[in-house]
Amino acid sequence: MGKVSTALVIGGGIAGPVTALALRRAGIEATVFESHPSAADGVGAMLSLAPNGIDALRVVGAHTVIEAIGQPVPGVVMADGGGRRLSAFHGFPGLPATRAMARADLFRALADFASADGIHLAHGKRLVAAEDDGDSPSAAPSWGTGACPPDASSGSPGCPAPSR
Ligand SMILES: Cc1cc2nc3c(=O)[nH]c(=O)nc-3n(C[C@H](O)[C@H](O)[C@H](O)COP(=O)(O)OP(=O)(O)OC[C@H]3O[C@@H](n4cnc5c(N)ncnc54)[C@H](O)[C@@H]3O)c2cc1C
Repeated sequence: MGKVSTALVIGGGIAGPVTALALRRAGIEATVFESHPSAADGVGAMLSLAPNGIDALRVVGAHTVIEAIGQPVPGVVMADGGGRRLSAFHGFPGLPATRAMARADLFRALADFASADGIHLAHGKRLVAAEDDGDSPSAAPSWGTGACPPDASSGSPGCPAPSR
């Protein structure tokens, strides 16, 4: 197998743009393909990134965007509806705080960071099938147009099985 110089990254969520950035640093030019016809701005709720997640972003230099948008969470207390304390977590000793943020903010920040680095994110391209002949995987990808339809449970190619 010859030297790999290009790659297709399937899914333009959180991992997709970061994967493309990492590939670029390894000398591989990657394009990100996202099934939804538009970016996921404003969609989702909250998520948090622990120190190891932030470290993973540091590899591609994207940890800086987390410092800009993430709220440090030094500890978490779980309580029931009556205020009875169930458990508490005070962070990882010696490590920076976990950071909480809106998923939409994380998505936008990473997409912008990747875009500024020259990564192209193509929307409305859903991978339906790819062949792997052992030498040139994804030699013949097939694409659907746009996101999975609402009736994806009927078995639309490239869409999750009903159980997911
Ligand atoms: C719109 C959205 C909102 C979310 N909100 C939250 C939240 O508020 N809190 C939380 O904890 N988690 C949320 N999640 C899940 C969370 O983002 C992920 O679990 C986590 O960040 C891992 O990132 P990921 O890139 O692996 O997956 P995701 O962020 O789920 O991204 C995967 C992407 O791949 C695309 N895709 C899937 N199949 C194909 C295909 N065949 N071809 C092309 N593209 C494809 C999807 O449309 C999606 O955009 C959300 C996910 C999405 C998509």
